[in-house]
Amino acid sequence: MPTDSTTSSATFDTDVLIVGAGPTGLTLGAALAQRGVRARMIDRQSAGDNTSRAAVVHARTLEVLEPLGVTPALVARGLQARRFTIRDRDRVLVPIGFGQLPTRYPYTLMVSQAVTEQVLLERFMQLGGQVQRPCTLVGLAQDDAGAVATLDDGSRLRARYVVGCDGMHSAVRELTGIRFEGGSYGESFVLADVHLSGSVPADEVRLYFSPGGMMVVAPLPDGVHRIVAPVDDAPEQPSAAYLQRLLDARGPQAERALVGDVLWGSRFRVHHRVADTYRAGRVLLAGDAAHVHSPAGGQGMNAGILDAVVLAEALRRALAGDPAALDGYGAQRRPVAQQVVAFADTLTRMATVRPALRALRNAVLGTLASLPPFRKRLAWRLSGLVYR
Ligand SMILES: Cc1cc2nc3c(=O)[nH]c(=O)nc-3n(C[C@H](O)[C@H](O)[C@H](O)COP(=O)(O)OP(=O)(O)OC[C@H]3O[C@@H](n4cnc5c(N)ncnc54)[C@H](O)[C@@H]3O)c2cc1C
Repeated sequence: MPTDSTTSSATFDTDVLIVGAGPTGLTLGAALAQRGVRARMIDRQSAGDNTSRAAVVHARTLEVLEPLGVTPALVARGLQARRFTIRDRDRVLVPIGFGQLPTRYPYTLMVSQAVTEQVLLERFMQLGGQVQRPCTLVGLAQDDAGAVATLDDGSRLRARYVVGCDGMHSAVRELTGIRFEGGSYGESFVLADVHLSGSVPADEVRLYFSPGGMMVVAPLPDGVHRIVAPVDDAPEQPSAAYLQRLLDARGPQAERALVGDVLWGSRFRVHHRVADTYRAGRVLLAGDAAHVHSPAGGQGMNAGILDAVVLAEALRRALAGDPAALDGYGAQRRPVAQQVVAFADTLTRMATVRPALRALRNAVLGTLASLPPFRKRLAWRLSGLVYR
C-alpha cells in the first residue's frame, strides 16, 4: 500500500478536512497552514459564533499560540487578571497570584470567545485559509488511504485525514462510532455579562463557594463582569433582579456588588465526558468533540487550543510518512483531558458541599492555602503551565 507521502495528491481534494471552525478548528487550520499542509475547513453556521462563552485564556495557551503569531493580538484585546481567589462570601479561603509564574504571561487573560475566534480566523485567513460555510458534514466513511466526507449539499470531499473539531455533539465522533463516556451534572448553569458596581475588582477572578453553590465573578474588558453559577433551574434569559439575588446569596456580604445592566445572558447544562479514543484510523478528534467538563477553572477552550497545536505537528509528521505520530497525539492529550475533567469536577464538588461539611472544607482549604507549595501548584494548574 502506498504511504501518505507517495499517494498521488490528485486522489484527494485535500490532505486534512477540518470539521468545525470554533477555536479548536481555527487553531488547527492556522497551525497546519503555517506548516504548509493542505487543509479545508467547513462549518455548519453561516457566520462565526458571537456568543461570549469562554472568557479565559490561560498563560500556557498564550505561550503555545506565540509561534502562530496571534498572542500579541489577543493580549492587546484582553484584560490581565493577575489574581484568582477562592472565597466563602467575604472570607478569602485561597489567594492565588499569577505574578510569580515563570512565563511571559503571568496572568489570566480575560477576553470573550468571540474575540479569540476572530483573532484566530484573521490569522488563518492571512495564511491563505478559508472557511466554507454554511456547510454541514452529514456522512463519513474511511478506508486505509483516506476518508470521504458527505456534505449536506450531497457533494463528497475526499481527504487523507478528517479532524472532528465540531464540538460536544460531534457528528464526526458519532459517525465514527467513538464512544463519549461520562455523565452530566444535575444542575444547569446561568451565565451573564453585566455591568457591576461596588466590591468588584477589575484584575481578579473570584470563585465564591456558598451553600447555594459556587459562583464565578470575573472581569472582562470594557468594565464588564462575567457571572457564572450553577443553579437548579436557570432562566433562559437571566434578568438583573435574578442576578442580583444570586450575588446577594452567594457573593460578598460586607460590601454588596450591584448589578447594573445585563449585556448578555444564557443558560447551559454541563457534561463531563472524554472520548474513548482520539483516533480511529483516518479520523481524529480535538477540542469539545473529544472532551467536555464543568467550566470551573475555565479550561475547556484552552484544552482544545492545546490539542490543536499538538495535532497540527502530528498531522504534518504523518503526512510526511510517520503515521505513528498520530497515536502520540492521543497518548499525550487524552490523559490531559482526564486530568482537566477531574480538576474541574473537584472544584465543582468542593464548591457545592453540604452545609454540614462547609466549615470543615473551609478549615482544610484555609490550612492548605497557608502552604506556599499548595498555592504554587494551584497556580501552575490553573494557568496550564503544568502541561508544558
Ligand atoms: C456557557 C459556557 C461557558 C464557557 N466558559 C469557558 C471558559 O471560561 N473557559 C474555557 O476555556 N472554556 C469555556 N467554555 C467551553 C468552551 O466554550 C468550549 O470548550 C469551546 O467552545 C470548544 O471549542 P471547539 O472549537 O472545540 O468547539 P465549538 O466551539 O463547539 O465549535 C464547534 C464548531 O463546529 C461546528 N459544527 C458542529 N457540527 C458540525 C457539522 N456536522 N458540520 C460542520 N460544522 C459543524 C459548529 O458550528 C461550531 O462552529 C464554556 C462553554 C460554555 C457553553
